[in-house]
Amino acid sequence: MRPRQSLEELKEAVLAGDRGGLSRAITLAESSRSDDQALAQDLIAELLPGTGKAIRVGITGVPGAGKSTTIEALGLQLIGQGKKVAVLVIDPTSARTGGSILGDKTRMNKLSAEEDAYIRPSPSGGVLGGVARKTREAMLLCEAAGFDVIIVESVGVGQSEAELAEMVDCLMLLLVPGAGDELQGIKRGIMELADMIVVNKADGDRIPLAKRARGDYRHALRMLPPSTPGWETPVQIASAAEGTGLAEVWESVEAHRALLEETGLLEERRRHQTERWLDSMIEEAVLAAVHSRRGVEEAIESARADVDAEKATVPQATQRVIEAAGLQEEGK
Ligand code: GDP
Repeated sequence: MRPRQSLEELKEAVLAGDRGGLSRAITLAESSRSDDQALAQDLIAELLPGTGKAIRVGITGVPGAGKSTTIEALGLQLIGQGKKVAVLVIDPTSARTGGSILGDKTRMNKLSAEEDAYIRPSPSGGVLGGVARKTREAMLLCEAAGFDVIIVESVGVGQSEAELAEMVDCLMLLLVPGAGDELQGIKRGIMELADMIVVNKADGDRIPLAKRARGDYRHALRMLPPSTPGWETPVQIASAAEGTGLAEVWESVEAHRALLEETGLLEERRRHQTERWLDSMIEEAVLAAVHSRRGVEEAIESARADVDAEKATVPQATQRVIEAAGLQEEGK
């Protein structure tokens, strides 16, 4: 048995910016034990008034685009300016398969050695929505602990970008210049969500290629509605490895933030973020409540078996589960 921690102790540790305390608090919020959840939710309720001040930036891009390298370089740059930087890593593949495409590759060594940095890997297990909910809570806890910048990194695998866009104030899409059609494989939807696009690895002989990619993306963006009204999504080139262009990248993050503040859009985005947090928490709680009802797991098992044996169609089998859970609509 783990020793129980008091709410007061945890609250003090988080507020003092103690990284061990912050880690314990996030672990509680990620736990599926109901007593841990109860404590985590009390803690979040107590700490909520001190949250909301950080810049919340999302970074997405395919594996190998240079997300870790960029975050490390940006993070060190920001720490050099006296900021405290927290990095939360979402890996949707770990939610789906239990494995992770990030593997155990050691990431962001230099940044993690910094006093003013905090790096937290993805919670594993559970559904993607659950991972998002946990990430939102981890973000609030980091803010309560005094972090000025929260960077949420997500592996770009399509669907997860929309979820990420709803968690952060500014979404950065990281791309790499490649040969051939620059727009290949980049879905329009993702470009529409991005508040800024950075073409990374603009170094060595890739510089002309990166510049060409920048032109192509700028052109493509002209045909899309802006991610934020009144904002022209910048396309910049940078080299995370050499550190070039990153100061300009951060300037764009700050310019975007300033626009959000001036126009009142920041409040609107934050409200929307809170609504999504509520939605995902309700969905998760309702699902957990249904699964915990007597007979539901068995009904799901037998629905699977019936569908496999072609004794029932998928809608029929689903209906039986709904009935077993006592969830049929009134009048039916
Ligand atoms: P992630 O999977 O998106 O997090 O990508 P990583 O940050 O792990 O980078 C993938 C590979 O690209 C690594 O071998 C990096 O060293 C390399 N890389 C990252 N950024 C740059 C860059 O700006 N220039 C060059 N030449 N290589 C880079």
